[in-house]
Amino acid sequence: MRKKVIAGNWKMNKLASECGEFISRIIKDIDTDEKDVIICPTFLSISSAVNATAGTSVGIGAQNMHYEEKGAYTGEVSAEMIKEAGCKYVIIGHSERRKYYAETDDSISLKIKKAYETGLIPIMCIGESLEERESGETFNVLENQLVNALKPIETDENLIVAYEPVWAIGTGKTATDEQAQEACCFVRNTLKEIVGEKSDKIRILYGGSVNEKNIKALMAMPDIDGALVGGASLKDEFIKLVNYDK
Ligand code: PEP
Repeated sequence: MRKKVIAGNWKMNKLASECGEFISRIIKDIDTDEKDVIICPTFLSISSAVNATAGTSVGIGAQNMHYEEKGAYTGEVSAEMIKEAGCKYVIIGHSERRKYYAETDDSISLKIKKAYETGLIPIMCIGESLEERESGETFNVLENQLVNALKPIETDENLIVAYEPVWAIGTGKTATDEQAQEACCFVRNTLKEIVGEKSDKIRILYGGSVNEKNIKALMAMPDIDGALVGGASLKDEFIKLVNYDK
């Protein structure tokens, strides 16, 4: 039985001063008994998020990292720095980074490898665009993203994959439960070809306009082990998302 994961991706939102206050307010109402809850604030808010979650089982993640340990990479942050700041997780290859910062499967592969070496759990994002879905390319896209990034490296069950159709991110347009299940099932079968039986333990999340109304049905799907949530994780609604089964 895979433990469910509800992860919030705050993107470039909330000041560090707002972060601690928000987490301290919602955390007492969040039920973490049977699931992993993760909050991914901006780099500058990681330390206040770590302080605000101290003594709880809520984990903190970064939204990106560099694959080199240190050096002349102006503006970048390494996996070691993220780990030292108290993170347990790191989002890698979010579609916004693929789109705006030219992230490729190759750089994503290097980042996942480095995250493993540093003891961080990577949350690897994959997903097709609307054009790709409409032209029947969804499975090819997902397969290429997985194979290109994971085949060259050692992967184990300490990987979280987030299936996030690009057309559903921040648009209010959620994939239907069946579309999300079909894609997550395909992801699991592809992972099996890449990593073998360990794939049964890898958690696969759905992401894309998840909210308090649609989460329950999505979580009931057999291959969906949780959600990566953007907009709704910034509001008190996040409590209801985490407690969807209560
Ligand atoms: C995301 O940023 O990964 C995401 C899924 O955003 P939203 O929930 O706002 O669609």
